Amino acid sequence: MYRTHTCGELRIEDVSKEVILSGWVQKIRDKGGMLWIDLRDRYGITQLIFDESKADAGLIRKARSLGREYVIQATGNVIERFSKNPNIPTGEIEIVVSELTVLNPSKVPPFTIENETDGGEDLRMKFRYLDLRRVVVRKNIQLRHKLMQHTRSYLDSQQFIEIETPVLIKSTPEGARDFVVPSRMNPGEFYALPQSPQTFKQLLMISGFDKYYQIVKCFRDEDLRADRQPEFTQIDCEMSFVTRDDVLDTFEGLIKHLFSIVLNIKLDEFPKMTYDDAIKMYGTDKPDIRFGMKFVELNHLVKGKGFQVFDNSRLIAGINATGCAGYSRKQLDALTDYVKRPQVGAKGLVYVKYNEDGTFKSSVDKFFNQEQLANWAEHFQAKPGDLMLILAGDPSATRTALSVLRLYMGKTLNQIDNRKFLPLWVVDFPLLEWDEETRRYYAMHHPFTSAKPEDIEKLDTDPGEVKANAYDLVINGVEIGGGSIRIHDRKLQQKMFDALGFTEEEANQQFGFLLNAFNYGAPPHGGIAFGFDRLCALFGGTDSIRDFIAFPKNNSGRDVMIDSPAPISEEQLKELAIKMR
Ligand code: ASP
Repeated sequence: MYRTHTCGELRIEDVSKEVILSGWVQKIRDKGGMLWIDLRDRYGITQLIFDESKADAGLIRKARSLGREYVIQATGNVIERFSKNPNIPTGEIEIVVSELTVLNPSKVPPFTIENETDGGEDLRMKFRYLDLRRVVVRKNIQLRHKLMQHTRSYLDSQQFIEIETPVLIKSTPEGARDFVVPSRMNPGEFYALPQSPQTFKQLLMISGFDKYYQIVKCFRDEDLRADRQPEFTQIDCEMSFVTRDDVLDTFEGLIKHLFSIVLNIKLDEFPKMTYDDAIKMYGTDKPDIRFGMKFVELNHLVKGKGFQVFDNSRLIAGINATGCAGYSRKQLDALTDYVKRPQVGAKGLVYVKYNEDGTFKSSVDKFFNQEQLANWAEHFQAKPGDLMLILAGDPSATRTALSVLRLYMGKTLNQIDNRKFLPLWVVDFPLLEWDEETRRYYAMHHPFTSAKPEDIEKLDTDPGEVKANAYDLVINGVEIGGGSIRIHDRKLQQKMFDALGFTEEEANQQFGFLLNAFNYGAPPHGGIAFGFDRLCALFGGTDSIRDFIAFPKNNSGRDVMIDSPAPISEEQLKELAIKMR
């Protein structure tokens, strides 16, 4: 027997029991006559004690020969500790060891296995199995497990069926880039790894499964941004005979359940906001609504007064930073530099200080008098002591830049409550997005998303104006999930492919299986998918999804532990009929 108890289990009630523990040596404290060892496993830490005056010399020698991360087995007696440690559950007891076995020695680990470690990111990734021994990292993985289990049991309780869909599928040019897998049996042909099980889950609705889900790996060969993983996990779901609100209600239920059971947080009903409103008021389709500072548009007040910048801009809009009228020249310059960085992209920043004495001081005093500025202030609902920050330019770029500034000011002014979770459904996305480079429309969500019924007409005349029956769940400014009501009519799907510039032949070649299936009684259906890694990070209170993946890839998409991707041998290449230039 390796152990009678785990290292997190023994309590004062267990005093005088003879026990066997196995685990890793976390720490050794050698005070000459006395020696203590912290023994660690997944469940906790238990202190072992060796008393030179009482114990056998051989045993003491053996204890002294141990090093950090040795795997040992200790047999001994549970006693009450003289100086107790209230910080750990086992802190009232310790084990007087009578027998010690080294199960496996360890080299000195390359970094300390502590919550605060001296190991840098690269080193920890290379030795991820050691990093995973750290309690903080292990807790993240356990949180993930918990979310996964509760997701499964909740969806099961709602009659969803978990069905696996294939991982080796077919490449399609729509969406992100595919990872492809060469087929040895079919030289010159390739599978693709799924970016999502989208078409399969729709086929399952046609099969009559009615409610499907899967916690599933998806793959996208995108340019890597911070905190994106080439392989990631989704909670993927689909339902039949549902309207948009049926889907939203069902998954609002899931999210509320997870918050309640995992974090003990009761969420209120999730508000809904249209995409257009989100863009107009927050400049983004994932607004953080934990704080205000909504955009105020000024076009009608500021144009035609001789200030070229405003006159030549299609949008002039700003935010009100409460209590910031006292900002110094230096602070304002810093803000201007901040918005002018290429990542933010504004051309400049106009400010108006609403002084405590009721006067105004602005960077455009040459063009606007006190009365006009007072009028702006009224629009901003600003009060004496506030600072209005205004950007101007092309509407889309200006809104994007202003949304970055809004977040920055929200953080700077401590207006964002980090203990709060505020979910939001963003609805009525545009169906199509125009791409200037390729001069064609792309589906904003994916080509299977249906238009709002009242907009279908416009597909022929004004495709850019068509709204989709699509929705996203945003929590605290982070997109957690998204989905749509699908097209289930063959003709309509064909029309959508037309709008996307597919010829009938192309549509058939890529999605013929789905178009065909629509001929055999496809029910109305819709669904959603949640980014599971991101959900875990949100629950864990950080934005680093990597911390919640047992074996993540780094920012260049590499697994530095197994050193992948890697070249393959000439033989393998030949067998796969792949020529390397
Ligand atoms: N397949 C979609 C995605 O991965 C989600 C959905 O429409 O259900 O984003």
